[in-house]
Amino acid sequence: MREIGEARPEYGSIQERSGEFVGMTGKKIQRARTKTVATVGPASNSPEQLNQLIQCGVDVFRINTAHGTADEHDQIFHAIRAASEQQGRPVAILVDLAGPKIRLGSLFTETVDCPVGRQFRFVRNEVRAADELTCSYDRLIDELSVDNQVMLADGSVTMVVESVTQDQATCRVISGGAIRSRQGVNLPGVALSLSAVTEKDKERARWAASVGADFVSQSFVRNAEEIIALKSMLTESGSDAAVIAKIEKREALEALEPIVEAADGVMVARGDLGVEIDVAETPVAQKRIIRVCQRLCKPVIVATQMLESMHDSRRPTRAEASDVANAILDGADACMLSGETAIGQYPVDAVNMMQRIMAATERMLEERPELSTTDVLDDVHIITSAVVNGAGKIAEDVNARLVVVATRSGATARVKSKQHSLIPTIGVSASEATLRRMCLYWGITPLRGAPVMDPPSLRNFIASWGKEHDVVQAKDRVVFVTGTGLVAGANNLLVVHEIR
Ligand code: PGA
Ligand code: MN
Repeated sequence: MREIGEARPEYGSIQERSGEFVGMTGKKIQRARTKTVATVGPASNSPEQLNQLIQCGVDVFRINTAHGTADEHDQIFHAIRAASEQQGRPVAILVDLAGPKIRLGSLFTETVDCPVGRQFRFVRNEVRAADELTCSYDRLIDELSVDNQVMLADGSVTMVVESVTQDQATCRVISGGAIRSRQGVNLPGVALSLSAVTEKDKERARWAASVGADFVSQSFVRNAEEIIALKSMLTESGSDAAVIAKIEKREALEALEPIVEAADGVMVARGDLGVEIDVAETPVAQKRIIRVCQRLCKPVIVATQMLESMHDSRRPTRAEASDVANAILDGADACMLSGETAIGQYPVDAVNMMQRIMAATERMLEERPELSTTDVLDDVHIITSAVVNGAGKIAEDVNARLVVVATRSGATARVKSKQHSLIPTIGVSASEATLRRMCLYWGITPLRGAPVMDPPSLRNFIASWGKEHDVVQAKDRVVFVTGTGLVAGANNLLVVHEIR
């Protein structure tokens, strides 16, 4: 095994030869193997910005349906598809359903100071005094009990319920701060009768299905049934979008394995998670979630505050750079930018910075053999996983320049991805939807237009494409995983090819 930091000529040279992305230093490097999810907002929704962000390395755009109107979502969706077309590169779209996020109503004044010890009252109807609060959940007062905690504004204020009557719940501030109208309300550990998928979510999910979204994520998931229900709703609307479970409640951590099994992917939604559980526990929760996703072979996105200070700074803090690096070393498939790209001042710098941290960190994954094993999987043919595992080993042994996996649903690429191999890997598919789905899979570069069903033509296609783009040259070895078509639903053919 190579020492960390030791020169890797073959790796370095392919980075330069296949260079599609120019880093801040002006030096061409390959796009990072770890995928970048960027939230679209006013700072990034113009065609020029979308094009530029794709060039810098965005693989998946998130449309956060908690903000904006239906018309705006529609416009952004089509602008992303157009930019992807213009760049000639598959880019996936994740439609994020807001779920039952409770928000404060209008406050008595624009901001209200909440010093420790002060009493506030949640009331019905509207506020008539500075110590009164309302919220978007109309049964709150009925469902609160004494000693429940109420967290406001992403946890910057904590109150505890002291008494509840027919029409008000009296709380006392135990951790102080300031609040503004319509900021979030989190009720850690309080069992609310809210349904996980709200009416608005259902309407947005039907829209996502109608436009052909690639991923749909559900916020505040509590159990696997909620994921199964969303999947069947999407299927009924004619969509085969992959469903991402956002882990941001204690209940979800308690039902983690069944949720991950039911979902097609997972998001470590640290923003709300860090309020719903003790923020001190979130790093360990992140590692546990990623480990379960590795074992069950599901892509996992780490989200929120990754480069937070880049909202209004061109450079991240050292802690933020470490956060991105550590997420990769934990085994994350993707890192997400939220406000940094949606409303920040430097969306392009944030994406460039993320790519640079990723590229600098990835070579260390060789030292993490635990990130290359998955369970025997229920949802992937046993022949496919065995062949893919063999292909990974063979590619290392023959010092392959490239691995190519053909995939119908993306499952073969998903298994290959979880090996976390540094050998560049191309995913080919006859389905555009599958190519976009691979945008989230670690280390897989989706490539359009390949003759997937015919292994000899696929080899010729990759050889000429690879030479044209300076990815391969004569004598390079390329490992192909395809199918003979003789075993239904399995990829059973492995070929080691030498470029002529
Ligand atoms: P949000 O989800 O940005 O939609 O709240 C992510 C998170 O909570 O971290
Ligand atoms: Mn959230």
